This record gives sequence, C-alpha cells and structure tokens, in this order.
Amino acid sequence: MCCVLKAGRLLDAETTHNCLHLPARRILRNCTKMLFWPFSKMGLSGCMFSGISLFFFMHFAVTSGFLVEEKALVLMTNYPLIDGHNDVALQLRILHDNRLSKIDLHNISKVATDINRLRAGHVGGQMYAAYVICTAQEKDAVRLTLEQIDVIHRMCSEYPEFELVTTSHALRSSKKIACLISVEGGHSIDSSLAALRMFYRLGVRSMALTHTCNTPWAESSSEIYTFYPRDNNSLTHFGKAVVKEMNRLGMMIDMSHSSWDTARAVLQTSQAPVIFSHSSAFTVCNHRRNVPDDLLQALKENKGLIMVNLYSGFVACGAKGNISIAADHFDHIKNVIGAESIGIGGDYDGAAEFPEGLEDVSKYPALIQELLHRNWSEAELAGVLRLNFLRVFEQVEKVRDELKGTLPVELS
Ligand SMILES: [Zn+2]
Repeated sequence: MCCVLKAGRLLDAETTHNCLHLPARRILRNCTKMLFWPFSKMGLSGCMFSGISLFFFMHFAVTSGFLVEEKALVLMTNYPLIDGHNDVALQLRILHDNRLSKIDLHNISKVATDINRLRAGHVGGQMYAAYVICTAQEKDAVRLTLEQIDVIHRMCSEYPEFELVTTSHALRSSKKIACLISVEGGHSIDSSLAALRMFYRLGVRSMALTHTCNTPWAESSSEIYTFYPRDNNSLTHFGKAVVKEMNRLGMMIDMSHSSWDTARAVLQTSQAPVIFSHSSAFTVCNHRRNVPDDLLQALKENKGLIMVNLYSGFVACGAKGNISIAADHFDHIKNVIGAESIGIGGDYDGAAEFPEGLEDVSKYPALIQELLHRNWSEAELAGVLRLNFLRVFEQVEKVRDELKGTLPVELS
C-alpha cells in the first residue's frame, strides 16, 4: 500500500506527508489525463475508480486508527518526550548495587526502563531521580544521594545514546536521550544550603522538597513516617530560604510528594515557575499525592507545570486502570488550567503497577494516540511532550540570571 507500511514504521513527517497524499496525487494525475486526453484509456472511469479507491483508503485509515497511530509517531519524532520522573537509578542500586559493569543498559530485566525501550517510547529527555529512603534522614542521606548522582552520571556518560544536560539550551538541542538529574526529597540535603549548592554544581537541576517524610522545614503529603510532626507550619523560615536559594541557583522546585499546604506556601514564595514532576489530578483520583483543582489554579498563575504520573495507584486509585483513565487526568487538568500547564512524569521504576497498555517507557506513544483520539491538537501535544517543560526550565534560568547579584543564603 503505502511506503509507511512497507517500511514497517514511520521515518519522518515529510515521508508521511508524501505517503498519505500519494492516492490524491494519482487521482489528480489521472484526472488531468482525462481532461487533456479524453480518448485515452484512462478516461472518466479511471478517474472515478481512483476516487472510490481513495475514499475506501481514507475510510479504512480513519476507522482502523492507522492515521492516528502514525500521527502520534510523527509528532513524537518531531517532539521527543521530556519526562519528569524516572526511578531506574533506584532500581540499579536495589538490583545491581550500582555496578553498571555487570549489566547492559540497552536491555535490563526486571525494570521498566532501558535504552531500547526509551528509544521505542520516543523519549528524548528524562529527569532521573537521585532518591534515597527517608530512614537515611540525618544519617547517611547525603552520601547515599551522592552515590545516586554518581550512578546517573556514569549511566549517562558511559553509553553514547545518553547525554547529561544541565541547561535548557542543551536539553532543547540534544539529539540523544538527554539526562537531567533531580534529587527526590529535601532530606537529601540534611538541612544544609551548602549541600544544596554543591548538588547544583554536580548537575542537579530539580529537587522535590519532601519525599514520604517531613523534613525539619517542609511537610510531606504522606504520614508513613512520624518524623518532624508539623502543625500549621508547612514551610518554615528555613524552608522558605531553601526555595529562595533554589530560585537563585536556577534549580526547579518540585512539589510532588509535598503536602498541599507546603505547595501553597511554595507558590507564595517562589519567584520562578515550579513543577509537580510526577503527580496527577485529585478530582479524578482522590489520592493525597495528586493535586486538587484550587492548587492547579495557583500553579497556572505561577506559570508552572504538572507532569502527570502514570502509576495505577494515583491514576486509577488502586485499580490497575487503562490508558483511558490515564487520559482522563490529562483531560481534566486541561479543562481546569489548559494544556500549556501539562507535562508527563511517568514514575516508571518508582512504582509497582501501571495501567494496561502503559507498562513501561516504550508505551508513551499509546498515550499520545489516545489524546489524539480525544481531539487534542498537535500544538497542545507538542507542549505536553516537551515544549511546556522547556518553557518552565528557561524561565527558571531567567530568574536565576535576574538574581545574579544576590548572595548565597547563609542560614542553618
Ligand atoms: Zn516519587
């Protein structure tokens, strides 16, 4: 039929454009022949035949989902995904003690992320979490975090398919799988702004203020741990200093895992846009890790970003769920604050169960297909895939540049 099918997969937008217009061109050529050589073999019947063929081809394409499938791949080829959250570095520690020499990152068993699947999923940028467990707080959290930053550095420098980036410009122009480093949980800095600054120098460009534990200065959405019980004190004076120092450094403030009160306090304090790197819509699934509509509104005013988490527990509230329920979160957030505030933060390898059809990082195109089926425009999806994140990152850097004359905060 078409060269798209012959090739087995789509190569680029131009190819598709040419392929999809092939039948139309043939008709035009045939009809031109008919006009100028009315007595030729082609004639009216040939033109009608071609027209009917085109009708059935288009009908088949639309009804089979063929066009949407190809459209999603073209879109993701032109706008490779920048995903907000991935925990494969944690799995490298748990399963392999961070010994990269023992494994091939192209194909790793028992995880949801490897190079082959990132490629299949059209991932062009990934924020990798340097996460350490809350029980390391005030013990060896800083060392363990350094080790996780180290393994991300090694992963992204020892394989030519990866490239570690620390600026929005490098992220935008990378032709590889760009790696960004985020620290997941303020317990990793051990209440030290100097440690925060050194993490920045090691390439960290985002930090979640909490994980599932309160820190001495910020409140978690979780009550798993009883560390630092807080009462109407969601972000302390020191917590606000952390936010200001992150603004000054040019580090994205991640409010996923923080309590809603902490998030509200951050939104009142931060000069730069902030992100939820892996959270979904509370209205669709009532989980405290998700974001309620009033907070979404405040996020919109901040020009920040919510990167939708695909974990079943946050998407389908305990059930396994499917692509449709995941897409419901995107639809809801779009209805409340618009598509320009949305990204994707899959949370692969940080959570156990994912909706049917979204089991690993190779499955992102299926999500984009679903959103195309729901009449999301290509411009909206280009934003969701990468442009919205790039805009926020650039703005965070702009605020950093504006604060250039500001001295580091000296508070302990
Ligand atoms: Zn998380």
